[in-house]
Amino acid sequence: MNNQRVYHFQEGNAGMRELLGGKGANLAEMTNAGLPVPPGFTVTTDACREFYEKGGQLTDEIFNEIKQAVRLLEQKKRQEFGNPDRPLLVSVRSGSVNSMPGMMDTILNLGLNDKTVQGLAQSTENAKFAFDSYRRLIQMFGNVVFGVEGIYFENLLHSLKEKYGLEQDRDVSEEQWRELIGQYKSLILEKTRREFPQDVYVQLNLAVEAVFRSWNNQRAKVYRKVHQIPDHQGTAVNIQSMVFGNLGNDSGTGVVFTRNPSTGEKSLFGEYLINAQGEDVVSGVRTPMPIRQLEMEMPEVYAQLLATAQRLEQHYKDMQDIEFTVEKGRLFILQTRNGKRTAQAAMKIAVDLVRENVLTPGEAIRRIEVSHLDQLLHRAIDTEAALEVLATGLPASPGAATGQVVFDADTAEEWGRSGKRVILVSMETTPEDIHGVLAAEGVLTSRGGMTSHAAVVARGMGKPCVCGCEDIRIQSGLFTVDGQMIREGDWISIDGASGRVIRGEVSLKDPEISEELSELLAWADSIRKLKIFTNADNPEDSAKAREFGAEGIGLCRTEHMFFGADRLSVVQEMILSDTLDERRIALNKLLPFQQGDFEGIFRAMNGLPVTIRLLDPPLHEFLPDMEELIQQSVELKYAQKTEETVKELERVEQLLRKVRNLHEFNPMLGQRGCRLGILFPEIYEMQAEAIFRAILTCRGEGIEVLPEIMIPLVGHEKELKLMRELVERKAEEVLGEEKEAIPYKIGTMIEVPRAALTASKIAQHADFFSFGTNDLTQMTFGYSRDDAEGKFLTHYLEDELLSTNPFQVLDEDGVGMLIDWAVKQGRSVKPELKTGVCGEHGGDKQSIFFCHKTGLDYVSCSPYRVPLARIAAAQAQLEFGSASTAANGRNKVATTS
Ligand code: PEP
Ligand code: MG
Repeated sequence: MNNQRVYHFQEGNAGMRELLGGKGANLAEMTNAGLPVPPGFTVTTDACREFYEKGGQLTDEIFNEIKQAVRLLEQKKRQEFGNPDRPLLVSVRSGSVNSMPGMMDTILNLGLNDKTVQGLAQSTENAKFAFDSYRRLIQMFGNVVFGVEGIYFENLLHSLKEKYGLEQDRDVSEEQWRELIGQYKSLILEKTRREFPQDVYVQLNLAVEAVFRSWNNQRAKVYRKVHQIPDHQGTAVNIQSMVFGNLGNDSGTGVVFTRNPSTGEKSLFGEYLINAQGEDVVSGVRTPMPIRQLEMEMPEVYAQLLATAQRLEQHYKDMQDIEFTVEKGRLFILQTRNGKRTAQAAMKIAVDLVRENVLTPGEAIRRIEVSHLDQLLHRAIDTEAALEVLATGLPASPGAATGQVVFDADTAEEWGRSGKRVILVSMETTPEDIHGVLAAEGVLTSRGGMTSHAAVVARGMGKPCVCGCEDIRIQSGLFTVDGQMIREGDWISIDGASGRVIRGEVSLKDPEISEELSELLAWADSIRKLKIFTNADNPEDSAKAREFGAEGIGLCRTEHMFFGADRLSVVQEMILSDTLDERRIALNKLLPFQQGDFEGIFRAMNGLPVTIRLLDPPLHEFLPDMEELIQQSVELKYAQKTEETVKELERVEQLLRKVRNLHEFNPMLGQRGCRLGILFPEIYEMQAEAIFRAILTCRGEGIEVLPEIMIPLVGHEKELKLMRELVERKAEEVLGEEKEAIPYKIGTMIEVPRAALTASKIAQHADFFSFGTNDLTQMTFGYSRDDAEGKFLTHYLEDELLSTNPFQVLDEDGVGMLIDWAVKQGRSVKPELKTGVCGEHGGDKQSIFFCHKTGLDYVSCSPYRVPLARIAAAQAQLEFGSASTAANGRNKVATTS
C-alpha cells in the first residue's frame, strides 16, 4: 500500500480511479486540463480501508496529512481555515470508484462557526447569505455526523417560516436565520448530548469519518448489491474549497449532460437554479429551470459552459454529466463523470460517437453496458389501447409499468414481496427509498426534475419513472388529480418515455430493435467469435430469437410440448399404461403433435441448426400433485355414490397409485433424462421418429434442416452409446436411403460431473457437447436448484460466502474447471467436437466471457437475451482476443489419455 493518503487535485489523473474514486480522479484530470475547478484534494480509498481496519477511526497519521493539505489550500486561496477575517470554507464529499449517485453523504460550508460566519458576512457583504450557509452546515453536520434525522431540522425551519408568515426560504432574514441557528444547536444538544463543534478541525475530522462511515449505510449497501459493486472497495473523500451559487441573482448552480440522457440526442441537456446551492437541484426540493433558459439569463456563462461541456466530452470520449456553479457570474466546474443514461440513449450515443469519429466501433462496443440491452427489451404501452391519461410529468426513465399505488418505500417492498406489482408514488424520493424503488415496477414523483434522485436511480435500474408531475397532489394514503382521487391499492400505469400517468391497468407490448442497436449488433457480429444460439421450444419463440439474431437453437426442451391442454391427457394416458402395447398406443397419439411442433420450428429456423433434446423431466411432473390427489380421493369417498363418482374415484385412485409408484425422494437425481429413455425406449423412439418425419416433410417443402439430437443427463458413456444406437435405428427406419443426405448430429448434454470427468470416453459417441450448466451447477455444488435460492443461498450471498449466485453467474473455479477439462478431453479424441452452453448462464455476461476464454463454440440463451449475448461475446473478443483452445486453435490442445 502506498503511504500517501492525500492527493491534491493537481497530483492525480483520470487513470487513478481505484485510488482517488471516480470523482477525485476526474477533478484531478480537469484541474490538470486547465478547467475552472475550485482547488482541493482527495483522501484515498486506501485511507477508507485503513479507517475500517482501525475499527472506524481516522488515524492521527492520516489526519495530519489532511491538515497539511489544508495548509496548501489556504495558500492557494489566500484564506485560512477557521480565521474569522478571511475564512476558508470547504465541502466534504464522498467519491467511490463506481458512481453511486446520492448514496453516500456530503457536507457543505465546513469551516463556519460563530466567529467565521461573521467574516463570511463581511467578505461577501451579505449577512443573510452567511447565516443561511451556517444553518445549512449545522443541519447537514447534525444529520450526517450526529445522526439527527433531517425531519427535525425541517420542522424547525417550517415553524420559523410559519411564525413569521414566510413562504420561501429566501424570504428569511438574517435575524431569523440566527434564531434558527440557536434552535438547531439546541436540537443537536438535546438529541445527542453533544455540542455542534466550534473548532473547525474537529468539524473536519468528524466529517471525514462520517463520509467514510456512509460507505456502509443501508442505502449504499443496497445500491452496491444491485450494481454488483464490491463491498471492500471503500470510498474516497474529496475536500474542496467552496464556491457559492447562492450569493444572489448573478449566481446559481446546475447539472448538465452533454447529450440528452433519455434519448441520446446531441444537445446540451440539464437544469439549473438561480441563487441556490447544489443540493437544491439534485434533491428535487425546488423544480429547476431548463438549461436553455440560462442562455437568455447569462449568455456568456452559457457559452462558456457549452464550450467546456464539449471539451469534456471530447476528452473523455463519452457523454458527460457535469455539475457546475456560477459564483457572481464566474463559472466553476465541480464534477464531471460519464453520464448515466437510458438504454436507448446509450445505443444512440455509442453509434453517434462512432459516426462522429470519436470512437471506433470496437471502442463503442466495449463501452456498452450489457445490462442496458436487458432494459431495451422493456415494454411500452400498447398504443392500440384506450387510455385515461390523468396527468403528464417529466419523462424521466423510459419503459412502461402498470401496478397498484403505494406511497412509501416500505409498503412497496412489503407488497412487492407478496407478489403484487406496485408503482411507488411520492412527492420526491430520497436515497433512503432505494429499497422501494427496487421493489416497484415504476416510480412517480410530484416534484423534482430529470436529474432528481428518483430519476437518476430509476434510470440506473432500468425502471420506468415519471418525475415532477406537479398536477398530482399527494395527501396521506391518496393522491388527487383534476378532481379525481386515487387511493393506495388502486391501479395506475406510467409511461416513462412520454411522462403520462394513466388510470388503471393497461396492456403493455414488447419492444423492438432500434436502428442504432441493429448497427451496434452488426459491429458486434463482425468482431465476435462465439456463436449465439437460443433456447426455444415453439415456432414463435424461434422466430423472435431469429429476429434478434440467433444463429440456431441450442436447446429445444421437448417436455414443454407435452404440457398443452390437448396433449397432457395423452401423456398421462401413456404414463398410466400398464403394458408396452398400451403405452405404444398412447405414444402414437402423441407422435403427430410432436411432428407438427418440430416442423414449425424447422420452418422458423430454415438453414440454421436446431438442437432438440429428448425428454428430460421425471414422469411424475406430468401427473397431478400427490397431496391434491389424496384430498380428491377422500372427498370422493365421502361423496354420495353415483355412477359418476365411483368412476371418478377409480380414476383418481389409479392416478394416485401411479404417482406413489413414481414418487422419489430426490427426483432431480432420479429417473430423468436418458435414464427415462433407457427404461422406456419407446418414448425416445417416438420422439426420434417425429423428428425424422418432420425433417422429411420440411425438406419436401424446400426447407434446409440442420437437426441435432441431444441426449440429456448422461453420466456414463454406455448410456449415450445405447441412446445413440436407438436414434440411429430410427433414422435408418424413417429416412431409409435419404439418411446419407441428411446432415444430422447426435450429441449429449454434459450436466453430471462424471460426464465432464470422463469426457474423452463420452466424446467417442457424441458429435457435440452442450453443457447444461443449471444441472452441472446443482450437481457440482450439491445445491438443489429448486430450493437453494429460497433457503440458504440468500444467506450465503448476504454473508459473502459466495460473491455471486452460481445459478446466475457461472462458478469458474469449480463448474468452470469441469467445463474446461471436458472440452479439452472431448477434443483430444474428436478435434471437431462442437461445444456450447445452454444453461441460464448462456445469457450472462461474465459467464459468456468464460465461455469465450474456454474456447466453446457457442452459448445458447433465451430469445430476449440474444442481443445482449451478441454484444457480450464481442466484448469478450475485444478483451481477451481469440481463445487458445477455440476451434481454430484445437490442434494445440494437449491430448490426455
Ligand atoms: C441445464 O441443466 O442446464 C439445462 C439446460 O437443462 P434443464 O434446465 O432443462 O435441466
Ligand atoms: Mg438439465
